Amino acid sequence: MPTSNIPLCDPTACVAAGCDPVVCTGKGVPSNETLFERTTKAIPGGVNSSIRAFKAVGGRPYVVARGEGAHVHDVEGRRYIDLVQSYGAVILGHAHPVITRALRDAAGDGTSFGAPTPREMKLAEAISERVPSCERVRLMNSGTEATSTVVRLARGLTGRKKIVIFDGNFHGATDALLAAGGSGVATLGLPGTAGVPEEAVANTVVVPYNVVPDIDETVAAVIVEPVAANMGVVAPVPGFLEGLRTACDRAGALLVFDEVITGFRLGAGGAQGRFGVRPDLTCFGKVIGGGLPIGAVGGRRDVMETLSPLGKVFHAGTLAGNPMATAAGLAALSQLTPDAYDEIERRATRLSRIIDDALGDAVTVSRVGTLVGIHLGDALSGRSPSNFDEAKTTDEPMYARLFHALLTNGVALAPGAYEALFVGLGHDDSVMDDLAERFVTAARSVATPG
Ligand SMILES: *Cc1c(COP(=O)(O)O)cnc(C)c1O
Repeated sequence: MPTSNIPLCDPTACVAAGCDPVVCTGKGVPSNETLFERTTKAIPGGVNSSIRAFKAVGGRPYVVARGEGAHVHDVEGRRYIDLVQSYGAVILGHAHPVITRALRDAAGDGTSFGAPTPREMKLAEAISERVPSCERVRLMNSGTEATSTVVRLARGLTGRKKIVIFDGNFHGATDALLAAGGSGVATLGLPGTAGVPEEAVANTVVVPYNVVPDIDETVAAVIVEPVAANMGVVAPVPGFLEGLRTACDRAGALLVFDEVITGFRLGAGGAQGRFGVRPDLTCFGKVIGGGLPIGAVGGRRDVMETLSPLGKVFHAGTLAGNPMATAAGLAALSQLTPDAYDEIERRATRLSRIIDDALGDAVTVSRVGTLVGIHLGDALSGRSPSNFDEAKTTDEPMYARLFHALLTNGVALAPGAYEALFVGLGHDDSVMDDLAERFVTAARSVATPG
């Protein structure tokens, strides 16, 4: 069927007819299955970010019509307690009124201009004020753009090529950083995916997390997730981040913290505020956009001013510093007071206890502040993983069973065993009470696999 014959809803006419314009596809209200099936005919795999697919856990995704606070509703009207929260991008909860209002106001002012705007200035200032290492901030459109920009910036500034990254850390879809590591030893990067030529990762060195590597004068930058949150949640061991700082200083390499998850999630100062180590550059994304597309690089003034137009390293973006994204980001930051972080941390602690109580010896919960990760099975005898090799011993089949048991019981986790679990200002006490009951019910069915 030619797609041009598929009618698109007219939102105004839909509402007038008493129809739900979000869910309706012009052919009545679909099921998750029919809607996802139809999506796969327009979008490869039916998803615009491959981690959203249910490849690792089996089955078909629920299709989200809307969310509010801690909950999402699928197109069939089923409600889930959402622990995905847009992979951490949403921290106030879905459709928070402060963000909704900020977006309405911003939309009314025009959505993009190609000229400087007050909101981008305010967001950059807000980041600088809260993260002292960020003397200057350049806003862009994704975490991926931030990491690819720091690679170019570090190489351009130092005149060196090598980038050191850590096995199990994730830095988005940046070619130079899509390198696979070997097992437990420092290796020169191998392409982490088809489409990345060896040349693109020939200067990327992959080393084990939580061990300070030798850094020599060929290294432009060391890029690290200061708390690893893409292999479950793995805390930096004492001395690791400090050791990286010292090693980089000695070699004249830049230390880059990828705080795309941890930034404004662990607290207003991010992981660097929590652990007291000052990087030269920091990548942001997720929380600073209040649920809209955003990324940012912040850092030392002299380093940041190496970016064009002042310096020799090119960066530009049509929608960079976008009025809508910066409005949502400013609205999010306005709510993230010290009390708000205390509250979120209390909820993360409660979530850890809920999981522990429900799953007992079958789980090890790793929590760093507001970030929660789980490791399933007893391969580490109840110890939290400290690197990727250890993280990979998680029981993936058990995760798939737990995932589906929770989904059946109205709780949404990310469809992958290595994602963090996110709570925020939407997960109030009544939601957490409800979650506790659902976890216990789901855990019972996981304990006795069919
Ligand atoms: C999500 C993430 C990225 C990529 O950000 P996008 O906005 O998805 O491009 C980079 N680094 C880390 C640590 C992330 O968690």
